[in-house]
Amino acid sequence: MKLYEYEGKELFRQAGIPVPAGIFMGTPDDEIPLPCPVVLKAQVLAGGRGKAGAIRVALDEMQARAEIRSLLEAPVNGSKVKGVLAEEKVSIAKELYASFSVDRQAGGVLLMTSAHGGMDIEATEQGNISLVRINPLLGLQSYMIRQAGRSLGLTKQQSQEFGDILRSLYGVFVSYHCELAEINPLAVTVDGHLKALDAKVVIDDRAQSMFPQYANRQTEGLTDAERKFSEMGIFAAEMEGDIAVVTAGAGVAMATADALDSQGGTLRVIIDIGGIVGHEVELCTEAFEIVRDLRPKVILFNFFMQVTRLDGIAEAINRVLRYQPFDGKVVVRMKGFFGREGLSLLNGAGFELTDSFSQACTLALRAARG
Ligand code: GDP
Ligand code: MN
Repeated sequence: MKLYEYEGKELFRQAGIPVPAGIFMGTPDDEIPLPCPVVLKAQVLAGGRGKAGAIRVALDEMQARAEIRSLLEAPVNGSKVKGVLAEEKVSIAKELYASFSVDRQAGGVLLMTSAHGGMDIEATEQGNISLVRINPLLGLQSYMIRQAGRSLGLTKQQSQEFGDILRSLYGVFVSYHCELAEINPLAVTVDGHLKALDAKVVIDDRAQSMFPQYANRQTEGLTDAERKFSEMGIFAAEMEGDIAVVTAGAGVAMATADALDSQGGTLRVIIDIGGIVGHEVELCTEAFEIVRDLRPKVILFNFFMQVTRLDGIAEAINRVLRYQPFDGKVVVRMKGFFGREGLSLLNGAGFELTDSFSQACTLALRAARG
């Protein structure tokens, strides 16, 4: 789970790491309580913003609002922009790099530092990066900090600040169960102090439940329907085509999508109700109602089940599409456990019924065209 820069910087600030004064802005109309010039940084879960033009400097408030508006409009490297971080502009003398990451090979923590930080860190030669391996039982020791700082060309005062920053960053890394806690650039400012100008914090997904403040992360970027499905434990992808596919199992789902696509069909939504929802008529009913409310031209139910009873699923289909109004067409393929019983429950409702995968796709494509 990646944190946005502004969230990472908030953790840094709480840990005592110096960061620029700044404020997160969700809209261009928010007040900017900072003197200009300001640096405006698109908040996205992707890196490489500098090179993508998503970090801008504004000299006055009018320019700042225009830049914020334009940053909010376009995705950065394919990622949606959540907002803009407006910060005081820091004058940089030098850009360093510092990070802690999980060292899988050694079963420990890896401290990486470099005097060649900034946007080209990926291209920095290995020889210019210092690696210090940390045994998590020992933790971060002073000699490790000295070793990491040796080639950075810092004054005595800066070395002191560097040590404090590394200790605080290590604290964030451990207490937030991070895979990565990175500062790039860690700037040496023109007035000679160290400041974290960027924050990249990645929390181990397995620790996610410990940090409910980031719980929205999984559902961010989902459509309303996708969010509802996700809350029910159903995988769903919403699109803009004609046919809603309702199925169980990722394999059948992909096969159905491919079969329809290869014949020129388009999808409105595809959902995989999985093994749990299928057992509960109530949950199936709820899920099918969401599908119906997307108003697809056709709903194709494609089920091949060995454990889940298909007559229960048929009952849910009847509840939503037989006894309640629906303008589109319905195709149902059922095969497997109580499949025949399921199909006979659906008889007489005006649905197209079959036990064949390929016939179901053909019927759905025809219904979408007609
Ligand atoms: P990234 O490209 O997504 O990693 O975004 P960064 O936050 O690292 O910013 C990219 C570059 O923008 C940095 O390497 C800096 O050179 C520059 N930058 C970021 N913040 C400031 C700032 O406050 N002042 C100045 N002068 N440059 C900044
Ligand atoms: Mn950066």
